[in-house]
Amino acid sequence: MNYAFPMEESDGKQQRALSADTGSILALERVDVRLEVEGQAVHISLEQDSESRFRCPKCDREYGYYDYAPGRTWRHLNICQFQTLVHARVPRVNCEEHGVVQVQVPWAEPHGRFTILMERFVIDVLLACQTA
Ligand SMILES: [Zn+2]
Repeated sequence: MNYAFPMEESDGKQQRALSADTGSILALERVDVRLEVEGQAVHISLEQDSESRFRCPKCDREYGYYDYAPGRTWRHLNICQFQTLVHARVPRVNCEEHGVVQVQVPWAEPHGRFTILMERFVIDVLLACQTA
């Protein structure tokens, strides 16, 4: 199992995270990585390209960027024993039917606090630890 970010597994859940069919891939303009040695953490900050087009997560119509939702943080897999946190301000679109809505990010479920890779890792560990 490859837990690199981004991953290229063909598993259904992981593939969805990478699939352009969802229309949810964010074109990243900038990625900053900051190492916090004392706190043993790696901070990955993502920013999207404001020229990108995004899809309403409810009706899949495509729109230009409207604004940003407040900044969020997702817990990702550790890197070299350092806790890894992904930070981003997710773009929102102004859908003619659904109003201002946040686009779906490819690395996490809606309202999720962990990346999909982190969730997948936890599930794999739980399955490996199952007793009959
Ligand atoms: Zn919509």
